[in-house]
This record gives sequence, C-alpha cells and structure tokens, in this order.
Amino acid sequence: MFLEKDIVIVGAGHAGISCAEALRIKGFKGTLTVVERQIGFPTEKPPLSKGAIVNGTNQNYSVPLLKPENWYVDNNIDLKTGITATSIDRINRKINLSNKNTISYTTLVIATGAIPIELGITRKHPQSFTLRNSKDAKEISRAASTFKSALIIGCGYIGLEVAASLTERGLKVTVVETEHRPLAKISSSAIAEKLVQIHERKGVRFRFSNSVVNVDHLNNGFRALLRTGGHEIAEMIITGVGVSPDSILASASSLARNDNDKNSICVNENFVTSDHHILAIGDVAKRVGAEKRIESVDNAQEDGKQAAAYIMKEVRQPRGVPWFWSDQYDKTLQTAGLVPTSDANVKMVFRPGKRGDGFSVWGFVDEKLRSVEAFSDPSSFAIGKRFLSDELSPTSSEIVDTSVDLKLIYKRFHAKAKEISRA
Ligand SMILES: Cc1cc2nc3c(=O)[nH]c(=O)nc-3n(C[C@H](O)[C@H](O)[C@H](O)COP(=O)(O)OP(=O)(O)OC[C@H]3O[C@@H](n4cnc5c(N)ncnc54)[C@H](O)[C@@H]3O)c2cc1C
Repeated sequence: MFLEKDIVIVGAGHAGISCAEALRIKGFKGTLTVVERQIGFPTEKPPLSKGAIVNGTNQNYSVPLLKPENWYVDNNIDLKTGITATSIDRINRKINLSNKNTISYTTLVIATGAIPIELGITRKHPQSFTLRNSKDAKEISRAASTFKSALIIGCGYIGLEVAASLTERGLKVTVVETEHRPLAKISSSAIAEKLVQIHERKGVRFRFSNSVVNVDHLNNGFRALLRTGGHEIAEMIITGVGVSPDSILASASSLARNDNDKNSICVNENFVTSDHHILAIGDVAKRVGAEKRIESVDNAQEDGKQAAAYIMKEVRQPRGVPWFWSDQYDKTLQTAGLVPTSDANVKMVFRPGKRGDGFSVWGFVDEKLRSVEAFSDPSSFAIGKRFLSDELSPTSSEIVDTSVDLKLIYKRFHAKAKEISRA
C-alpha cells in the first residue's frame, strides 16, 4: 500500500490540480510536487476556445487561473512549471525532468491530458493551428486580428466553439466535417440541428459529409481540396479532429496501455496502472469497465478526487453522473449522462423549455433515462441530472407532457424511491 510520503503529480491540468487539492483536503501531510511543462500558473482549459479567442488580444484579458497564485504556497504544494517530466525510473521510483533534475516518489500520478490530432496536410504551417493550451489560443486569437477567413476541420465541440469565437471576431468561417452533422457520436440530432441553425444565422458555412483531402499553399493562405470535389479558400486553418491521450511517459516506461483506445493508459477502478506505485487520471487514462474514456472537466476533476481518496485509503464514493457543457455565442448547451447515439433502442424525447428558444432532449433506452441535453434550458438540465444521479427514470410520456412541471415529476419519483427504501 501507499506510504504517505512523496507524491508527485505530472500535469497541472484539471485532473492533476483536483488531485493535489483533494489530497491536502483529506489531510495528506507529505511532500506534494506538481510538474507542469507549460510556463506560468496553471489555467482553465474551457475558456481557450471561447473567451481566450474572442478577447485574447485585449491587454486586460487573461485566461482564468485554475487556482489563485498563492494557493500553491498556502497548501504547501511545490509547483514546478516550464518543466517536462521526460521519463520514469520505475525501479528506483524517480522521474527525470527536462532540467536534468530527478524527483523521487512514493506515489506518482500521471495527469498528462491529451494532445490534438494533427493532419499531415495542414501540419507545421504558420497559418495552421490546433488548440490545447493557452499558447495555442493566443496564437489563434492573434491570427484572427490579421486574417479575414478561417477553415475549421472537424465539427466537434472544439470546432463549433472556435467557429463561434472567430465569427464573433468578424472572420468568415467554414467548417468541414466527415459526418453528416455536428457531434454525430455524442449528441442527439435535435441538438445538432439547433447548433447548425444558430451558427448559420451568424454566417458560418458547413460542408458536412465531406473532408479535406489536400491543401495547396497560396500566397496568403490555403486552398483546401474537398473529397467530393471543389475547394475552400481560407487564410487560416484550425484542425479540431479530436485528441490522443498524452501517454508518452507511460509508453516510455512500459506501463500497460489500451491499443484500442488511442493508447490511453490502462487503470483499474482505483486509477492504479500496471505499476502499483503509479496512478493515471483524466483524459490520459481509461478505467477498466468504464463505458468509454470521457474528455471533460467534470471527469478530470472527479478522477482527481477519487484517486486522492484511494491514496488516502478512504472508501471509494460512488461516481457522479458525467456532465459536460459547451458555450457558443451567448448560448449554453449542457449534457448529463452519455447520449446513447449508437443504441438501436434509443428514443429521444423533445421538451420545450420555459424561456426563449430553450429546450431539452431526453434520451431513453428501453424506457430507461440515459441522458439529458439542455439547450439554453438550465433548469431542465439540473432536474435531468438529478434523475440520473439518483438512478430514477421518468417515463418518456411524462417528459413529453409539458402541462406537468418537471420539478413535480422529480419530487414524486424521489418520494416514491424514499418510501421503497424505508419499506
Ligand atoms: C479548448 C478546449 C476547450 C474545452 N472546453 C470544455 C468545456 O467547455 N467543458 C468541458 O467539460 N470540457 C472542456 N474541455 C475538455 C477539458 O478541458 C479536458 O477534458 C480536461 O482539461 C482534461 O483534464 P486533464 O487534467 O486530464 O488534462 P489537461 O487539462 O490537458 O492537463 C494536462 C496537463 O499536463 C501537462 N503535461 C503533459 N505532459 C507532461 C509532461 N511530460 N511533463 C509535465 N507536464 C505535462 C500539459 O501541459 C497539461 O497542462 C475543453 C478542452 C479544450 C482543449
């Protein structure tokens, strides 16, 4: 078992910092070191595709910090930034750093996140970008001051959010996507349609069921050739076709990885890797038995807390329902649960919201609630998340019936569940 002595966390992202915080809250008194390759105090990731692109050239704007600057000293956390962990000496339990130093550990937590997938055809051109860290966001934001048009490859959350941010900066934006709609594997078609609608109203053009097969460099930009023929011309390109877990450290030290999941690090239900002195959390890790590896702030933070509980030998608490949000223009999409897009028996139920163009989509499989997606409808999201967390399932006909308030439906189910548990 773990001795509470020297814990080293590699990666000061949402997972790594959540783990460090939970360790101190739970009373860990030993040495706690966090190594981060990016320079400066660790920042949040979600604003990078939103505020950091819209406001990035404004001198008064800075990406929100994960924790205030004094938090690290106040919590006796040795934050080493601008330093990369280059390899692990598993026999002597040491990590080697880019500044040639080594740090010993009793427990090592790998929280290295993920890296954007690059396409050979757009790689390494000064007007071609991917987005993962504040440096990337700054470069995109700066380029948006110079260029008038952008081509975005990939219509997932990053593609959509960057499309919104660049449109707000006044660029003409075109998005190319291989699937027939946005977020094909992770959202309902009603949500996808709504997102396309709000983007098209702002002038974004979509080329669905298509892909960029080659890119010619022009004097000031690109001509992107499309699979179905024709081309798109743009001054900058942003590739947002997904990420790969950043498992370089793990592969260099022969920790077990999932070759059917982009080489993510295999961990057990306590986040322990194939070396019992090393844990892995966040985007980089896939838990045994988990339906899939989730890339979200909630997932990373939850992993961090649960890993800390395991290190501190606490009883594992049940994991909350996964949830996610995305901001595009002035609209917010919130999702609780995993949308069962590929399930043959899925039934998606639409419910109008109380205000404006808000609505929610409730995903059922065999009449059991599996997900709630809420577009500009925070109260439906909150109640849907509660249903899922409590493992209660309203019927699809109750959701369709807008004459009954959602809160009342939830209260009724909750009271009934309490009654059953008392009996
Ligand atoms: C632009 C953008 C917008 C997003 N928007 C949302 C959103 O709206 N909602 C949401 O729920 N999720 C969002 N996400 C996803 C979410 O941010 C990630 O799932 C989350 O950050 C994962 O946390 P992590 O700690 O595992 O990885 P990260 O936050 O990526 O942290 C990993 C850290 O490890 C460091 N690192 C890697 N290797 C080394 C090494 N060898 N040595 C030292 N340091 C190393 C990296 O520099 C990085 O800082 C967004 C992601 C991005 C990129």
